Amino acid sequence: MNSFIKLRGAEKKAFLQSKFEYYRSYNTWAVTISCLGSLTYFISDCQLFGRFAWETLFPRSAILIPLIIFLIVNRKCRDYRIMTVFSELIVHMIMWCTIWSIYYLPDKTHASEGFIIMQLVFLVISFATPFEISSISHMLVFANILISNTFNHYANLDIMLSLGLPCMFGIIATNYVLCGAYYDNYTTKHQLEDSLVLDPLTRAYNRHKLPSITKDGQFTFEHNGVVSILMTDIDWFKNVNDTHGHDKGDIVLKSVAEVIKSCTRGGDYIFRWGGEEFVVIMPNCPIKEASFVAERIRLHVEANENGVCPITISIGVAAYDGTNYQNAITQADKALYKAKQEGRNRVITYTE
Ligand code: GH3
Ligand code: MG
Ligand code: MG
Repeated sequence: MNSFIKLRGAEKKAFLQSKFEYYRSYNTWAVTISCLGSLTYFISDCQLFGRFAWETLFPRSAILIPLIIFLIVNRKCRDYRIMTVFSELIVHMIMWCTIWSIYYLPDKTHASEGFIIMQLVFLVISFATPFEISSISHMLVFANILISNTFNHYANLDIMLSLGLPCMFGIIATNYVLCGAYYDNYTTKHQLEDSLVLDPLTRAYNRHKLPSITKDGQFTFEHNGVVSILMTDIDWFKNVNDTHGHDKGDIVLKSVAEVIKSCTRGGDYIFRWGGEEFVVIMPNCPIKEASFVAERIRLHVEANENGVCPITISIGVAAYDGTNYQNAITQADKALYKAKQEGRNRVITYTE
């Protein structure tokens, strides 16, 4: 089992958001059923009173108010930090409605059984919650019991605590294992997704990535109508393979991918389009700026010590006009062809 405890920053946030989304509908049902389930304690109240327990009717049904608020917020809010803390708070509210009802009961000795059942509700609710938050929330159960003892005066408080503590540790351990199991699932899914869309040699995207950024020929990422495309091709690359061998050719290819990565922004998409051709899709980058970036790539490739031999690169640049993105790629390809024809080691921007 991988340890999710060491996760930090954005990586941790992404993991916890993913875990919440995975358990989201379960969490909604778990909160709802726990709240409605707590109303059934009213039956035992009537048994203890030997009549209709008017006294606990309002304390028991008060949980419906936070439940309704939770269901409304839950429809709009997708942030794990708000929704998981809210879910844990709801279980504490169930507990306080129960404590409130116990106050009126003629016989409080069964509070110990209710206490163990309450701990199971914390287990049921905590699947979507970050491990640290669910553990702290669970420990606060004992604070609830101690505070409520000041007015409920449980006859068997010592037994409640001595039996409750091992139960709490068991549930926290179960949570740890469940969270670790989800983390394994999460990392495996990401590794599989990466291996599907990344070229193993250069770590640039392959064409399987395209469906996640296009729909019906349009780019789906945020771009305000301004996207530029670069198409690059190493000059005389066959000669590199023929002279130095295919393995050294691979080293050159990797070095070119690294140069392209270092000259572009984090939000740009770099694809290995063909054997030694790369396409760069640049959201929110006007064509003039894209031509500068292309020129920078060309100069860096020319100057780069790749450990095999000096090489040069030709680059075609085109602007996406908002119609089918394939048109822009075809135009970049035409500009690249022109760069090759005009003598290679140059950048050409597509013009009609
Ligand atoms: P040009 O300047 O016209 O581009 O000449 P070129 O020799 O580079 O011609 P072209 O672009 O057609 O070269 C493609 C060559 O790239 C053919 C193939 O041997 C080589 N190639 C394609 N994929 C790989 C690869 O994964 N590794 C290596 N080492 N070589 C590859
Ligand atoms: Mg080529
Ligand atoms: Mg080439």
